[in-house]
Amino acid sequence: MDHVLAIDVGGTKMAAAVVDEAGAMAGRTQVPTSGDDGESLFTTLAGVVDGVVAGTSEELVGVGVGIGGPMAKGGVTVSPLNILGWRAFPLLARLREHTGLPVWIDNDAKALALGEGWLGAAVGVDDYLAMVVSTGVGGGVVLDGQLLDGEGGNAGHIGHVIVVPGGRLCGCGAHGCLEAEASGLRVLDAMMRGTGAAVEAAANKVIHTVVCQEIARAALDFGGPEAVVTGERVELLWRQSLWETIGGGTSEVMRGVVARQALGLGGRN
Ligand SMILES: [Zn+2]
Repeated sequence: MDHVLAIDVGGTKMAAAVVDEAGAMAGRTQVPTSGDDGESLFTTLAGVVDGVVAGTSEELVGVGVGIGGPMAKGGVTVSPLNILGWRAFPLLARLREHTGLPVWIDNDAKALALGEGWLGAAVGVDDYLAMVVSTGVGGGVVLDGQLLDGEGGNAGHIGHVIVVPGGRLCGCGAHGCLEAEASGLRVLDAMMRGTGAAVEAAANKVIHTVVCQEIARAALDFGGPEAVVTGERVELLWRQSLWETIGGGTSEVMRGVVARQALGLGGRN
């Protein structure tokens, strides 16, 4: 059975593991995303990779990477909005050089969509939207059983649909994007304004009144997919609330919201 090195690069953590053809995962390791510039960020990632590779006796046949967008098609260069030190960073070539293995890179939400269709909540579903709700907000769209790539490989980047005209400044430079209004950073911002018990109350208020509603609305506006799957932090913190928000009144189009993370990586973080 073949084994691959799976890597998940996010704005707050970098993770890697060995995954086999059946989707079983071993040796999962993660570290905080740290580094002020492209090289130090890559050094952090290389450290995680080296640790996982050293810890497995399996022969690895390739590397798969999920990372926030945008990127040049195929991840030849990546410019994730939530990792400021990487702008047009040549991640594909650097990882190929570092591991000596073939490397595939794609948007993390598209990887989530593939993973959920393969083994997760969207098995047997032909039309669905996968959403990463974490530091940022990403999306991957499957129609008629096919993952949408788009010209540049960035199709489904739902986080930068404007949901509040003139709203909060987003990392992309626009105002009122879904990512600016309804992401982990938005919750963090609310928490920073309070002290003591007010911190948790502020976080809960934003999660229940803003994040879940905006995510649900954006998902529904996307054309009434048969199912919506979500991943990342929503899994632990917001699942029930998001489920209730989407499920209320839309149960006929939504088969359910099940939280998982791209390729089964991650979880509690
Ligand atoms: Zn934006």
